[in-house]
Formats: sequence, C-alpha cells, structure tokens
Amino acid sequence: MKKYFLAVTYDVCEHNELFEHMNEYPLESSVDMENQVRNFAKLDVAPLVQVYKSETSDFQELKLHKEFKFKEYECGCNEETPNDES
Ligand SMILES: [Zn+2]
Repeated sequence: MKKYFLAVTYDVCEHNELFEHMNEYPLESSVDMENQVRNFAKLDVAPLVQVYKSETSDFQELKLHKEFKFKEYECGCNEETPNDES
C-alpha cells in the first residue's frame, strides 16, 4: 500500500522557548527521504524537520515517522541578545 510522507520544518530556539512551525512539504516517497529533508532544512534554515506519514493523500491521519535534526541550522543567539529588530 502506498504511503504518503509530509515533511514539516520547525524553527527552534531553546533560549526563547521558540518552537515555530514553518512549512510543510509533501515527499514523493521514502526513497532518498534524508536528501529531500536535508534540502528543505537548508531552504528554511530549519534545525528540526519532522516527517509524518499518512496512508491517504489528503494527510488526514498523520503519524510521526521520523525526526531529523540539523545542528548547522541551530540558532546562534546564545551569545547575543536579540534586541535590534527595529
Ligand atoms: Zn536561541
């Protein structure tokens, strides 16, 4: 049976207790999933990408399939204070 996968990118900052949902990207199949996920993470500069699976194409019942973390995209705000958003 065909499975459908949906990658969700998150912006995460532990210092500000930020856990922000960014974008959703449907995946064609589980083949080369890690490569696809890596591209989405790069696109959104997302330190966390969760992949959900569904047995229907409308993604009504999602189950967490796998979680990917990208250390290179983690926030770098542990040294500076974010106070220059004018
Ligand atoms: Zn941070």
